[in-house]
Amino acid sequence: MSSTTSEPQARASELRALLNQAAHAYYVLDAPVMEDSVYDRLYRELLELENADPSLIAVDSPTQRVGGAPAAGFSSVRHRIGLLSLDNAFNTTELEAWYGRLLKVLDREPGTALPMVGELKIDGNALALSYENGVLVRAATRGDGEQGEEITANVRTIASVPLRLQLENPPAWLEVRGEALIPDGTFAAINNERQARGEALFANPRNACAGTLRQLDPKVVAARKLDFFAYTLHLPQDWSEGPASQWDALEWLKQAGFKVNPNAALLPDLEAVEAFFEHWDDGRRQLNYATDGVVVKLNDLKLQDSAGFTQKAPRWAIALKYPAEEAPSKLLRLSCQVGRTGVITPVAEFEPVPLAGTSVSRATLHNADRLVELDLHAGDTIVVRKAGEIIPEVVRVLPELRPAAAKRLELPHTCPECGSELVREEGEAATRCVNSSCPAILRGALRHWVSKSALDVDGLGSKLIEQLVDRGLVGSIADLYRLDGALLCSLERMGSKSAENLVAALAQSKQQPWHRQLYGLGIHHVGEVNAKALAKAFPSAADLATAATETPEAITAVYGIGGEIAQSLQQWFSTGANQELLMALERLGFSLASAEEEQPEPSGPAPLTGQTFVLTGTLPSLSRSQAQALIEAAGGKVTSSVSKKTSYVVAGEEAGSKLSKAESLGIPVLDEANLQALLVR
Ligand code: NAD
Repeated sequence: MSSTTSEPQARASELRALLNQAAHAYYVLDAPVMEDSVYDRLYRELLELENADPSLIAVDSPTQRVGGAPAAGFSSVRHRIGLLSLDNAFNTTELEAWYGRLLKVLDREPGTALPMVGELKIDGNALALSYENGVLVRAATRGDGEQGEEITANVRTIASVPLRLQLENPPAWLEVRGEALIPDGTFAAINNERQARGEALFANPRNACAGTLRQLDPKVVAARKLDFFAYTLHLPQDWSEGPASQWDALEWLKQAGFKVNPNAALLPDLEAVEAFFEHWDDGRRQLNYATDGVVVKLNDLKLQDSAGFTQKAPRWAIALKYPAEEAPSKLLRLSCQVGRTGVITPVAEFEPVPLAGTSVSRATLHNADRLVELDLHAGDTIVVRKAGEIIPEVVRVLPELRPAAAKRLELPHTCPECGSELVREEGEAATRCVNSSCPAILRGALRHWVSKSALDVDGLGSKLIEQLVDRGLVGSIADLYRLDGALLCSLERMGSKSAENLVAALAQSKQQPWHRQLYGLGIHHVGEVNAKALAKAFPSAADLATAATETPEAITAVYGIGGEIAQSLQQWFSTGANQELLMALERLGFSLASAEEEQPEPSGPAPLTGQTFVLTGTLPSLSRSQAQALIEAAGGKVTSSVSKKTSYVVAGEEAGSKLSKAESLGIPVLDEANLQALLVR
């Protein structure tokens, strides 16, 4: 993020204060106050300010120290060899820059390939273990790198830490460094117990591990089942039987009885490092412990010695971190989107930040309540999140970095598109524009009508829709079918061939089945699944209209359709403009009814006949509509809400309340792989 004030000095001092406070919470209290990636980004900003003007480096700058001070309650020990931090690279360009610097320090030609070891960067707590004559005599946390806390009694309870080494001739002393961790499953169990006792939850496994290692009662530590992966070996300098490379050191550690992470790899060159990094970007999700990157270390220990250290970190190693899913950015302005139902969505526009692999500069703020909850002010530093395919959102604000006298931001009172007064019904979260001829609402309705899952009209994108509405050529869905080639040709970037194709595609769309037409009308709460169920129960628009306005109980009798939907249908069909739209569509040649042969029964074996599924969250490879199509092709049914009658809930990432409901009703929950397995049964 670029500096927010014109005075780097003021900004550096702001950042120092905030980062020091966060580091204390993280290292000493084991209760972080911000996301690691947010800390990293702000830290990087401070570092850049200090690099540009070294006079800004203050003695209390977090860039000048490693880790945190030893906590009270344990005696502190001075490490025989300092435990440093690692420099970070956040992308392969930074990795290449690091490698270039390393070659320079080692006086090698640019482009020389030096073998390296790639290890997972386990998000746990570094420990230093001291052995004398093969026996564990002391274990310490990293602390500030020079002094850590003595936690030997606790570390003795970790089953994967050998109390005596399997060496025939152990040296007089040796030190092993590695990472203590709490596996994900154990972490969940610990937090469940804490919740039951009304205690504060640990933010993540790393904090749970740090908190556990500092327990004053080793019995509690033993119960938490920590694990330990060894990755660094220090032997006395005159010890001749030691390994000559990091790779051999890992082997040596294994022989001595340590658990070494099995995913380390010997990598001949930078290309192999990049492939290793990419491989684990996905691979790490299958592990049962947290990792936040990979650590790359020069393999040859003699070369490591020649490369040496900076004040904080070895020059011969680098932590290559995976793209962050949260990051801070500076808010530039608040804008508002008007959806096809008139709902106003406030949107934060901010300085672009790379998130989960893409550059992001806009994020939804959902609604007016969220705006109040966030307490957003002009010029705020915000934390933005984008996980996988999820739409970016503003998670929170860092009020410590708020400019003085900044104004609180609120939703406007009038529609940014048509200027009419906005309305917020009591008990509703949404603020709406209720002017049915608002151009934004019309554009949204048209976009929805032509979308893939609705009428699927090719060649009618957002830009063209905007032109048609702005020029007053289209005032309703029906008007689309009155467009002719000559008129379309007069529009920007529209050739006669494309115009012809579009007219043909529109004509063709009249043949789409009734359930798609119903979905395309964009009636509140009538999504794809509900539209299918309704179209099956009411084979024409006339049938549905009669039921909606006269016998709502016939609507709610349809499986999966509740009162809210019935009410929305009743409102829609009683509105004059909508009745006119249906009549106009009929005049234009739409049947607005099911054709006889519309719903062919699946012809092959139907393994899911009689089973009802609910989909929630984002599946790793199938889209919602693909999953639904597969289930239906196998004879199953997809509904939108979970009830006792649901056979299975298929849950992907960021699954919401449907998943919790399934769990509370004891309905089996499947992931994508389980679903695929059912389909081929
Ligand atoms: P670091 O975590 O970036 O890297 C060093 C650490 O990596 C080592 O101490 C070790 O514990 C670990 N590690 C894991 N696998 C390893 C392997 N195979 N080989 C070597 N080391 C391995 O650096 P740091 O100085 O410990 O901490 C800085 C990090 O702490 C920041 O990147 C930040 O994310 C986090 N932090 C967060 C906050 C916050 O408020 N959230 C505050 C302070 C620090």
